[in-house]
Amino acid sequence: MIGHRGEDFKNLYCGVHPKLQTLFGTKQPVFLCTSSAWGVMEASIRNLVDRGVLCCMCGAFSDKWLDVAKRCGKNAEPLQVDWGKHIDHKAVDRRLATGKFDTVTLIHNETSTGVMNPLGEICCILAKYPDITLVVDTVSSFSGVKIDMDALGIDVMLTGAQKALALPPGFSLFSVSEKAFARAGRLPNRGFYFDFLEFRKQQAQWMTPSTPSIAHIHALQYKLDEIFEEGFEARFDRHARTNALVHNWVRSAGFDFFAEEGFRSKTLTCVKNSRNIDVLKLARDLRSKHHLVIDPGYGKIQGKTFRLSNMGDETEESVSVLLACLDDVL
Ligand SMILES: *Cc1c(COP(=O)(O)O)cnc(C)c1O
Repeated sequence: MIGHRGEDFKNLYCGVHPKLQTLFGTKQPVFLCTSSAWGVMEASIRNLVDRGVLCCMCGAFSDKWLDVAKRCGKNAEPLQVDWGKHIDHKAVDRRLATGKFDTVTLIHNETSTGVMNPLGEICCILAKYPDITLVVDTVSSFSGVKIDMDALGIDVMLTGAQKALALPPGFSLFSVSEKAFARAGRLPNRGFYFDFLEFRKQQAQWMTPSTPSIAHIHALQYKLDEIFEEGFEARFDRHARTNALVHNWVRSAGFDFFAEEGFRSKTLTCVKNSRNIDVLKLARDLRSKHHLVIDPGYGKIQGKTFRLSNMGDETEESVSVLLACLDDVL
């Protein structure tokens, strides 16, 4: 292990930083955060929300953000759609026009429902409201599809370790726009551990506010080398191909999709249990017979759906094995 206030750590952080900026599509600093993604999601609320926050809600993760904002003592309102549906940019526009909000939370890829929200269209609406900050969770889409933070005008972009990056859990990455830093500077009660300005001050010297999970950063360094060796376009293509394999399987196995057409995730598929099988048994059998683990549906859609991931390190080979094993246990 290396110390986190010494040259070794500074070299480690400084070495991964340009690659992180490229992956985020930003010239802003990228921060290393020793918490799971929810830490940064809550941090965004505490650092940015003054007048009110509009929470775009279309599944378990995005729905929870409203609760988190309220627990932080903020004015928070839902823009709720049914699970399986996407967030419509025109609805965002109508709500922002009320003037009640200074912040919007959005989950790009709603992992519970397999919906990928139309980020470009929503960001275009936000461009009409220069005083509003946009927080985007890319936990399960980061590096699987192209997301350029600066070009899109995202103010806080965050991702976790254990989903799209296929690293161990307990660590996250985020970047903050100048607009968001300025807002944070005017807000009291940002605390210490997740204070954006503290992160910026420390990053300027290639350090973190508190002792980071250095082991994660070593793993990240390795993962970034892999990603750059594979190449971005090749990585996006791989996700598209493995996703298509899963989609073809869903159709041929006689199931349906939970997410509406046109907004289906490229990194994960939420399968609608239209055949009315025993999903928990399916997952159990898959595990005991083939040592493969799938999720039997999240929260209130457990049993009514199951989820197949093609994010991170999955290849055509690994996904094909999974699909063949699913056929076997079915
Ligand atoms: C998993 C997930 C989270 C929460 O991640 P934690 O690691 O539990 O903090 C947040 N957002 C999305 C989209 C997720 O898939």
